[in-house]
This record gives sequence, C-alpha cells and structure tokens, in this order.
Amino acid sequence: MDDIILEETRVKSGRVEFNYELRGKLSHYFTTKCMYVEYGQEIGNVPKSILNISFVASVLPLMWLTDTVLWVDEIDRTFYDCVIRLKNAYQELYPQYPLKGRFVAAKTVYNSYEIKRECLLLFSGGIDAHVSYLRNREYKPVLCNIQGWYDDPDKTKIAAANADYKDIKAFARKEDVKFEYVKSNFATLVNNYEFKKNIQTKLGDSWWHGFQHSMSFISIAMPLAYIYGAKNIYIASSFAIGNPGKCASYATTDIEFKFATDGGCIHDAFDMSRQKKVQYLVEYQKKSGKPYPVRVCSFNDKNCCECEKCFRTILEIVAEGGDIHNFGFEIESSLKEHWENVFERKLYGFGVEGEKKKHWPDTIKRMKENYAKIEEKEFVDWFLNYDFIGERKKALRKYYRDNFGSILKRKIVEYREKNSE
Ligand SMILES: [Zn+2]
Repeated sequence: MDDIILEETRVKSGRVEFNYELRGKLSHYFTTKCMYVEYGQEIGNVPKSILNISFVASVLPLMWLTDTVLWVDEIDRTFYDCVIRLKNAYQELYPQYPLKGRFVAAKTVYNSYEIKRECLLLFSGGIDAHVSYLRNREYKPVLCNIQGWYDDPDKTKIAAANADYKDIKAFARKEDVKFEYVKSNFATLVNNYEFKKNIQTKLGDSWWHGFQHSMSFISIAMPLAYIYGAKNIYIASSFAIGNPGKCASYATTDIEFKFATDGGCIHDAFDMSRQKKVQYLVEYQKKSGKPYPVRVCSFNDKNCCECEKCFRTILEIVAEGGDIHNFGFEIESSLKEHWENVFERKLYGFGVEGEKKKHWPDTIKRMKENYAKIEEKEFVDWFLNYDFIGERKKALRKYYRDNFGSILKRKIVEYREKNSE
C-alpha cells in the first residue's frame, strides 16, 4: 500500500502537531513525520476537523501526483465537499499531468461560525499584498503572515522571516489593524530531490511553486478566520487576466477553498496587471504625501537593490512617475549610475531574457506614455536603449573566461557526488 495516515492531531495552546505514518513509495517523498503550525494565540476552541484541513491541504496534492491515498479520522464537511472541485481546477491548470489518488475521511463534521468581518488577508509585505490591503482597507482586514521555513537549514530564511514579522507588525500598528504571525515547517515537508526526480519534468513546475504555497497558506489561515469570524481569506494574485503565467495560487483554484459552511477564499486583484498595481500604489503614496515602504526582495530583510526583482520593481515605480526612495529602495547615487555599476559586476547572472519577455513590456509601455512626467529621464533613456541580451552574452563569456578553473573544479565535484549516490 502506498499511503499516508494522519495518526494524531495534537494541540497545545497555540501549537498544533500532525503526526502521520507513511507507507510504500510515499516514505521517500517526506523529510519528516510531523507537520506543525504555531499560531500566536490559543487554538483550543477550534474544532479538530477544521485544524486537520491544514495538514490535508498541505500534502494532498502529492497524493494526486503519485496516485496514492490519504486517510484521516475527521475533516470539516464543507472542505471535504470542495476537494473534488479543487482537484478539478488544478487538473485544468496542469492538463499534461493526470491527477489521481484518493482522499478518505472516516468522519465528516458540519461546522459553522459567526461571521463578524469580511476579510483576513494573507500578507507578505510585497506589492501584491499591499495593493490588496489598500483595495480592501475599508474592511479593516486581519493581516496574516505565514512562514513555512522554520526548519530549513538555510538560516537566511529565518532572518528574512523575522524581518517580515517586525515590518508587518509596525505596519499593522500604524494602520490600526490586527496582525497574526504563524510559524510552520510545511515548506520543508516534501523532499525536493525526490520530487524533482520523479514529478517535476512532467508537471513542468516545482512542488512549492506549482502546488504547495497556496494550499498551505490558505488552509493554515482557516483556523484564524474561524477565530476572528472572517468570512473570506483574501490572497493577492500574482498574475492577471490575459497573462499566460500560472502557479499554485490561481484565480480558478483559490476560489474553490470552502470551510465551516460560510468560509471561503477570494483571489484578489486578478483584474490588475502588476504594472497597474504599481500605478495604484504610486497614486496612493502621492495622495498621502508620506513614504510607503514595501519589501519585494525575496528571502531578504531589506530591498537589496541589486537583484532582478528589485530592478523590475524600480522600473515599474519609475514608469509611473514615482520616487523609489518613497518605497523602501535606498540608492544614494543616480539610478543610471547605480545600475550600470550593478550590471558591470552581475549581469552574467541576471535572467534578463525572461524579464524582458515576461515583465518589461507593460512597464516600457507606461514609460513611453508617462515620459513627460517622469523625473528619472536619464535612467529611462539608458534602460530603453541598453542592449541587455547582447551585453549579457558578453558578460557570460567574460565570466567563463575569468572563472574557468573554479567552474571546472565545481563540475568535477558535482559529477563525483552524483556518481557516488
Ligand atoms: Zn533585491
């Protein structure tokens, strides 16, 4: 039998632990037999059948992908009924990979709760999250930040998580809204090596990007929605109408999450492109007359101002006539000087081909439309005329020439490791 059995759901004040057994091929796919979630408050009053949703949603897609079985003792009935629609929605998203497997619950429980507010918002502190916050500000959303990397050996992720906590707490205080911070190990449950080897190529996506993040974020927020009486969990969209991109968090999948009779999920702002969101933010900042710092740099405690994401966001802000210093980007020299310097050192490692194709066209269009009101004309002129593809090729050739010895050495080590496994 290839299956996973939820043996025990253990609650101690704000912490819930899911202990499970693995059999057959599934035992290779997991790094641990315990998933935990740690909330900032007591969860003893939340029914077990609702708590169990976090575990089920965090692992079930793996059963779909490996044609295996998930057994649990009890689950919320509303969630149970939405699983088939959720699976269908994911199947539409990934038609090349047949989703199979089974989810079996011994008991389903009808839960309900009193609705006291509209919105609990999953909040990372990036542009998407801030725009969703501003659009729904009238609801006084409960902000919820969930960190899944608490057991990752790479401790820079913890430093970034702690910075998230500090920044979002300060933001929530300023806005006078509630803030919930949640720690978990959900992001490190599945063995990425095994996933890559057997599933990733055919699926065309990774476990984290293709399934896990949305399934875990939304389901882990459900007990908090229950406690706060929030009708809907809001999650900011990453893509928009007309954009071919897709990931675990998508307009057609997120809206299928249902729980405890009236609880649901809103995939927010799928009607706005990323550039439109930045336009919204810049307009808001200008109207308020105060700085509006955002952090877009992944797994970092501040905007590094040297990576693809920072560059992309700076372009987007400039294209809307915004001043980047009002948005948490600390660059002392002129923008042109700064980025010329960065590219001299780092262009070989920059994914400019993807950026140019996926992200820049919208931004370039706005730069041209807004040219008259843009203050950073020197930078915009430089960007529009810079031959990114050609310069990157040159930079790559130079990098290989300068680092030939060390690259060769690394390749030999990789080759030896691969063959000794
Ligand atoms: Zn950065």
